[in-house]
Amino acid sequence: MLKILKKIEKIIYPPACIICNKPGYNNIDLCKNCYDDLLVNNNCCQKCATPLMGDVTYKICGSCLNNPHKNYHKILSVFIYKGVAKNLVHLLKFKHKQTVAKIMAQLIDKNITLSADAIIPIALHKKRLKTRGFNQATIIASELSKILKIPVVDNILYRHIDTKPQVELSAKLRIKNVSNAFKCSQKMTFKNVILIDDVATTTNTIISAAKTLKKHGCQNITALTFARTSH
Ligand SMILES: [Zn+2]
Ligand SMILES: [Zn+2]
Repeated sequence: MLKILKKIEKIIYPPACIICNKPGYNNIDLCKNCYDDLLVNNNCCQKCATPLMGDVTYKICGSCLNNPHKNYHKILSVFIYKGVAKNLVHLLKFKHKQTVAKIMAQLIDKNITLSADAIIPIALHKKRLKTRGFNQATIIASELSKILKIPVVDNILYRHIDTKPQVELSAKLRIKNVSNAFKCSQKMTFKNVILIDDVATTTNTIISAAKTLKKHGCQNITALTFARTSH
């Protein structure tokens, strides 16, 4: 019955591109042109997903070689933060187009295979949450949860320090800015988790949140971001 209803819905409301309104492609509200504009972050460090330059055979970046982080298993950043990927993040974050989160979750699912006991969004400080009205990471997490059938746990990890946006700071201050920003309100019973955010500029926020989760019982933490800035 649900399948028939979904088919009817698709006939009445065929997918249309959220960016340019052309017909959707691949059952997503994104047209073929916009879809093709997305740059999959394939050539990246296998540990921290930082984009790598050129055709390198050994896919671990210098930073991970020198400082192997033990708090997280690996980071997966699906797209390079450019063009349409950047537009989608902006539509979600600044124009409050929450339907974009569904498109992002579908694009994540089409590009990587994920399994975990829970999806945990990177928490916003309650002051920032009040100003923005929503946490973009939580909305992407809920949409991904519907596809993967993995529960979202967003009531344990919280941000107790209202950190400055990372983009406004120098590299050194970025690390200091978020290093103790997170806490957990109770012990985590989920061992294998996906820690999710919209964009990663540096890995500092992820490392800090993962450290806190590990301290509170998570064992295997895979961080996931929709996009990753390239240098
Ligand atoms: Zn389009
Ligand atoms: Zn790396």
